[in-house]
Amino acid sequence: MLIDTTTDNHVHTSLCRHAVGTMEQYVQAAISRKLKSITFLEHLEEGINYAPRSWLTEEDFELYFAEGTRLQERYRDQIAISLGVEAGYNPDCPEKIQHRLAQRKWDIIGLSYHFCRIPGQEEHLNLLSREKKNIRIAEQCGSSRLLSRYLDTLIEAVQRIRADVLCHLDAGLRHQPDLSYDATHQAKIKQLLHRVKEAGMALEINTSGYDLRNQPFPHPDIILRARDMQIPLRAGSDAHRPEDVGRHFDKLPALLAGAASSQASVQSGN
Ligand SMILES: [Zn+2]
Ligand SMILES: [Zn+2]
Repeated sequence: MLIDTTTDNHVHTSLCRHAVGTMEQYVQAAISRKLKSITFLEHLEEGINYAPRSWLTEEDFELYFAEGTRLQERYRDQIAISLGVEAGYNPDCPEKIQHRLAQRKWDIIGLSYHFCRIPGQEEHLNLLSREKKNIRIAEQCGSSRLLSRYLDTLIEAVQRIRADVLCHLDAGLRHQPDLSYDATHQAKIKQLLHRVKEAGMALEINTSGYDLRNQPFPHPDIILRARDMQIPLRAGSDAHRPEDVGRHFDKLPALLAGAASSQASVQSGN
């Protein structure tokens, strides 16, 4: 089996302050969709200057583990619940991130990269935001250059942080229209997949992309390349509301049964 569609490996809750719903509501949504397991992957960030905060504090993580443990007990006959983390990479302080990750017993560590430092700007740029202020700064910096930097930083992240799965590989700049991969980007993606494989990590198929561009993250060509490299694949809805748990998972088996694109190129799909 190339993908397990009975497990949602990536959901959030209101603890991160940009998602809605309690942990229990996500568990109930997963049960009603007949999933066998669900993994919370709450946002952890370190050294990021961005308001409003969109990640958990250490106090929030205390609540998270207490409530997660209660739910594991309460629903043990109905569903398996894993307590994981989506660690945001910050090239300014990888040791601190690694140190914080080492303090707790996570079931799964996902790795992603959301915030990038822009010279002359006090606040970090949120690469995944659809807010106007972020899109405007991204345009000023040049979205192609930013995409290169996004991929370079992910390559570094995979080498510096011990994690189980790389999340939404190409979600960077997902709200930039007209952005496509050039030859440089494609070479970086290839290099990144090799690093993921070397690190023994899995690659996430993030189905939130279906709602934004009618394709998952990353682009199907990248997924199929990873499949052919025998990189393990994991389905994640990246739900930020309970009703999105397990979204579009029914589309994944057909996607993975497809042949890899004969063109060497990876199109943007936007
Ligand atoms: Zn989020
Ligand atoms: Zn996420």
